[in-house]
Amino acid sequence: MFDSYSGYRLVGRIILLLILIVVVGLLFDSLASVLLVSASVWLIWHYRQLMRLNYWLWRDKRLTPPQGRGSWEGVFNGIYRLQQKNRKKISQLMAILGRFRQGGEALPDAAVVLDADRNILWCNRLAQLLLGLEWPKDKGQRLDNLLRHPDFIQYINHENYNLPLELPSPIADGKLLELRLIAYGDSQLLLIARDISRIRQLESMRRDFVANVSHELKTPLTVLQGYVEVMQSMAEDDDINQRPLKLMQQQTERMGHMIEQLLTLSRIEAAEDSDLRQQVDMDKLRALLEQEAQALSLEQHKIEFDWQPGLWVLGDSVQMQSACSNLLTNAIRYTPVGGSIKVSWQRVYQGARFYVQDSGEGIARKHISRLTERFYRVDSARSRHTGGSGLGLAIVKHALNHHHSQLDVVSALGKGSQFSFTISHQLLTAPGTLTAENSPSVI
Ligand code: ADP
Repeated sequence: MFDSYSGYRLVGRIILLLILIVVVGLLFDSLASVLLVSASVWLIWHYRQLMRLNYWLWRDKRLTPPQGRGSWEGVFNGIYRLQQKNRKKISQLMAILGRFRQGGEALPDAAVVLDADRNILWCNRLAQLLLGLEWPKDKGQRLDNLLRHPDFIQYINHENYNLPLELPSPIADGKLLELRLIAYGDSQLLLIARDISRIRQLESMRRDFVANVSHELKTPLTVLQGYVEVMQSMAEDDDINQRPLKLMQQQTERMGHMIEQLLTLSRIEAAEDSDLRQQVDMDKLRALLEQEAQALSLEQHKIEFDWQPGLWVLGDSVQMQSACSNLLTNAIRYTPVGGSIKVSWQRVYQGARFYVQDSGEGIARKHISRLTERFYRVDSARSRHTGGSGLGLAIVKHALNHHHSQLDVVSALGKGSQFSFTISHQLLTAPGTLTAENSPSVI
């Protein structure tokens, strides 16, 4: 529709005009005057074209430029072409933005995009429903001015967003949200919030179910165990029933142990928010562990204790005992007779470290990450033989979680294993002090 720029045409026109001026100048025998007049006319004409262009750029409402003449035709058309290109780009960008927004709206989670100063750039509909944001009213507002929960303020200021934060929804009663901040681009943040009330409810139902069933199984099992014992005492030594009765006794004992472990696990899980104020007498715990080790090993292993006295913990004594005892009994159960076991509790740079090192069978690398799963056993037959329930390390994991610690396992097949955990400085205390608050002697 518009002619494009042509350098040849422009040069051709200038040459033609110059020839015309020279011919007219020669005709009238006044080349200088004709040159002056035509240069002035030429200048005025160009000035007029410039004004037309200015008017169209700044005032005119029309999208198409006025018809350019002469050398100005290319300029007018070029500007129009650039304008069209930009318009096309803008509409493409708008389409991409629209698609991005539609995608954001289709997310099953609430999403909020924040700039480097934590101001809201965009949020989807779920963010309005779950977090109480108003769109577009809250656009440009700082998110921590709108979500005032202290945990959230601490989380967003902490700038370590590896772990998610659980928070009650500020507007929907009874809804629990899991918030995750993701840093991206040029210090921008993406907040993703998901409703986890249903998951938590199911978890709690599962916990209650396991706890109730385990509890209900205890009474009939005790009756069974009682009768088996009575029948064993009544049967003569050479009675053919002695063997089946012995087996029954072993299996009911195993079942009893499993129920106890299930109940312990349920109790530890239920005590999710236990505050860590109790003083755990680690020296008493050492004595208990020694007794337990003697009773289980029956002097068939070489057991060594390397224990720093007076290094107590602020926490839950039952849970700490469960954790240490499970690790020690595992070491004894999975170390062949004659093997050696070392138990250590010592101050280290990060706090205090407990470890149990054994010279037992060891664990292949592929199993290590799954050891703390419920009922996970490396070798079911061997576990059954050693009286294992597959719950011991799950108990250890939960007990340690409550003490802000985690289980570390180093093991190699045939070379033994080391199970360890570290309790941080904040949870260490000296004997005799009562709580974290009133204790000046947190060491
Ligand atoms: P279990 O009651 O079966 O011992 P645990 O949860 O305590 O269950 O341990 C899970 C599995 O980890 C065990 O079945 C065992 O195979 C392996 N395991 C735990 N401790 C040791 C250890 N000290 N040496 C070798 N294997 C171990």
